[in-house]
Amino acid sequence: MELKKHLQPHAVLIPLPLQGHITPFTHLAMKLASKGFTITFVDTESTHQQIATAQSLKDGDNPFSHGQKCGLDIRYAKISDGFPLSFDRRANARQFMKGLTHVFQTHVDDFIENLVLSKPNPPISCIIADSFHVWGSMIAKKYNLVNVSFWTEPATVLTVFYHMNLLKSNGHFGSHDKYEDTIRYIPGVQTIKPEDLPSYCQDDDPSACNYVFKCIKDAQKADFVIGNTVQELESSTISALQVQQPFYAIGPVFPTSFTKRTISTSLLPASDCTNWLNSKQDGTVLYISFGSLANLSKQDILEIAQGILISKVSFIWVLRHNILGSGERNILPLGFEEETTGRGLVVPWCSQLAVLSHPAVGGFLTHCGWNSILESMWCKVPMVCFPVLADQLTNRKLVVDDWRIGVNLCTRGLIRRELVAENIGRIMSRSDELKKNIEKTKIILQNALSDEGSSEKNLNQFIEDMKNKILQK
Ligand code: UDP
Repeated sequence: MELKKHLQPHAVLIPLPLQGHITPFTHLAMKLASKGFTITFVDTESTHQQIATAQSLKDGDNPFSHGQKCGLDIRYAKISDGFPLSFDRRANARQFMKGLTHVFQTHVDDFIENLVLSKPNPPISCIIADSFHVWGSMIAKKYNLVNVSFWTEPATVLTVFYHMNLLKSNGHFGSHDKYEDTIRYIPGVQTIKPEDLPSYCQDDDPSACNYVFKCIKDAQKADFVIGNTVQELESSTISALQVQQPFYAIGPVFPTSFTKRTISTSLLPASDCTNWLNSKQDGTVLYISFGSLANLSKQDILEIAQGILISKVSFIWVLRHNILGSGERNILPLGFEEETTGRGLVVPWCSQLAVLSHPAVGGFLTHCGWNSILESMWCKVPMVCFPVLADQLTNRKLVVDDWRIGVNLCTRGLIRRELVAENIGRIMSRSDELKKNIEKTKIILQNALSDEGSSEKNLNQFIEDMKNKILQK
């Protein structure tokens, strides 16, 4: 298909329809639009419905309505992911991911075909698909688009995935009997323990592993990969990646001031914790959240709750109704909320950035989702780490072992209330080292986003390289 040469790039952005992906994609859309791109942002109907409900959007409005009113050329579209709106995507995750591979691909294909036929002005020139989609390269090839893959996790995780064959040949893939080893052969990753590999390299859940492998294979075919990370945080890893493929660290992609006008990307209605936080002294509150997906066992929750009681810390605890994954509603131990009245606030969801940036918050007990880590760094809040799955295991290593801006909640698989209390105490008392390191990390992020900073320069370079690539098409 003939692509018109046009100076203004028009990118179609398609995130994975999960909270941790929609958020960075939304901010990326805003960034690119503010640099002169035309954006067509594609949400699923289900995602749109969740966002509209969570944010009480008026009919016809979308998450970008404010940006559009400010003159940004962001066009918003929603397509079916192939499941009825009433289908519980979380409870049927396996079936859902399968659908994203096949049915959703057909819907994306139809959507792009119709978009091309409608001859938009400017014509579409590029697709920016989530690296966790398996079909980005197929769509790009079919419609002669520049193929960009957006990697929403640390570069270290991508590098590990790119070298799965090395893990296999060394017996470290899916192996549980070499846990004591230290892996030193992954280019750009000085050392990593097998237990810190992403869970997909440890698990024997073949369907999840296969899905990720297909995604990674597809991402390797992209013309460019952009990553929601920072050059100075992962410099040797990024250099090693760049030997394989053009990779640009452009993170963190979130806006740098969190005002009311900041775009909200939440898929769930958020409780406002501001008044409660205002009543607390600076640095005294522990914020606890395990993100949008992770499931914990009832035993984990019990030990964490008991640890909180022992520590006597003030806290906000985000407990999603589905955190146990079983549909059971009695999540907390009996009497816990009564016992912590006044010093604890339990909510189903909140505006995490508003909470983390409040001066009362002094620590974050986190599942180590990458967005949560970036947000915590930005707000200078050290972390207690309790990774559960996927990249979170590797992210923990970065936070605790490499950057030293957090501590472990427990040794893997052994969660005990006394340890929980001890490690919460360690983080809330903020040792000089933790304080120094978290300040340093914030400065790294801030500098990266400044006009002369690495992320800003990398983003501009990516745009220039992409425009050249469009001209070559
Ligand atoms: N988040 C939120 N409110 C909450 C909990 C989480 O807004 O109560 C947001 C958080 O700010 C982050 C995202 O949800 O941007 C979670 O992404 P992350 O990568 O940390 O974890 P995931 O949900 O993908 O496991």
